[in-house]
Amino acid sequence: MKKSEIIKLINECENELSDYYKNIEKICELNTFKVMDSFKKNKVSEIHFNSTTGYGYNDLGRDIIEDVYKTIFNTEAALVRNQFISASHALNVALFACLRPKDTMLSITGTPYDTLHEVIGIKKNSSSLSSFGVKYEEIDLINNDFDYEKIKEKLSKKKYKLIHIQRSKGYATRKSLTIKKVKKVIDFIKNIDKDVIVMVDNCYCEMVSSLEPSNVGADLTIGSLIKNLGAGIASNGAYIVGTKELINLCGERLTLPGEGIDVGPSLGANKEFLKGLFFAPSVVASSLKIATLTSLVMEKLGYNVEPRYNEERADIVQNIIFKDSESLIRYCQGIQSGSPIDSFALPIPTDMPGYSDKIIMASGSFTQGSSIEISCDGPLRDPFIAYQQGGLTYESGKYALINAIDFLLNQ
Ligand SMILES: *Cc1c(COP(=O)(O)O)cnc(C)c1O
Repeated sequence: MKKSEIIKLINECENELSDYYKNIEKICELNTFKVMDSFKKNKVSEIHFNSTTGYGYNDLGRDIIEDVYKTIFNTEAALVRNQFISASHALNVALFACLRPKDTMLSITGTPYDTLHEVIGIKKNSSSLSSFGVKYEEIDLINNDFDYEKIKEKLSKKKYKLIHIQRSKGYATRKSLTIKKVKKVIDFIKNIDKDVIVMVDNCYCEMVSSLEPSNVGADLTIGSLIKNLGAGIASNGAYIVGTKELINLCGERLTLPGEGIDVGPSLGANKEFLKGLFFAPSVVASSLKIATLTSLVMEKLGYNVEPRYNEERADIVQNIIFKDSESLIRYCQGIQSGSPIDSFALPIPTDMPGYSDKIIMASGSFTQGSSIEISCDGPLRDPFIAYQQGGLTYESGKYALINAIDFLLNQ
């Protein structure tokens, strides 16, 4: 297929998708207004761009950012810090903050994201929760939804301290979970046990709809700032929002008992965090458009995709199921060749710590590992699924897609 024909096909698909794009723009508007209302309510000012060093006492910017997050997520408290390396770190802090020896945590979305295996102790590690005597159980999803029967059975028999819900699929083949499904299951859980802590891994899902897990009953909601809410502007960090009691526990685990959320220098991150949040609804919208466009174009080229262009989306991730390793590798190499940074690099599959299969990763991004920027990766195992996400601007995402298809079909 000639490059000009690829571009023609993509442009045709783009026209077909106008109603879907309008819907994405509507949600973008709702979320933008929510962000603007929050900036206004909390009187964000130029003074908040300043930051502290050392202990980080009285960091006005850091405090206002957390107030802004509280308003947006409608929670009592928030922890938005550059001391979090990533969302995995924030999830680790939250789990260690909430769980004590002999407690049991229950995952109701099957085995959690790879980086949590050693945190929980599913994979042996002498610093894991398991090594401290915290127990772990899991329930798989059935037909891409929660297994209500099993949840009821377990919760009626035994006391659980914390329930873990992961919305986005990670490297699994299941569908990601919409806010409607999350609301339904939280209502169900709290009806049986109102005291159990419901913690939601919200990675890749922020601002995809107009509601967040904290709006539908989650006690803790957690995500990365090098994904949706950092909008490619935040250089690192993560957020946890939730009840005052739990956020204080998280603060004491992140820093130290007795100092908790009151310390932590922002070291120049405040303006980035605020600016990232300001751009987030719009960057999430371009990512969703690129995902939807990729879905339709790849389907027309004969590939299986998940989700399809006309399905409701819970996150910004688009899967293309290639069924052979060569195609997966070439597609990822094509995304790299259409990225703004290191377009000349040729990614190859390699072993990665924590993963059993070789992984191919295309990420020509301004921030290392940032996956709100156009990026595509996947484990080299059957059925050879590409996990594509991001697009800081719609047009640059489209450029990457053109290059990926050209590489896939013509190299
Ligand atoms: C990306 C991701 C994480 C971990 O985020 P990092 O910031 O890379 O540590 C956790 N859970 C899910 C579902 C993710 O997509």
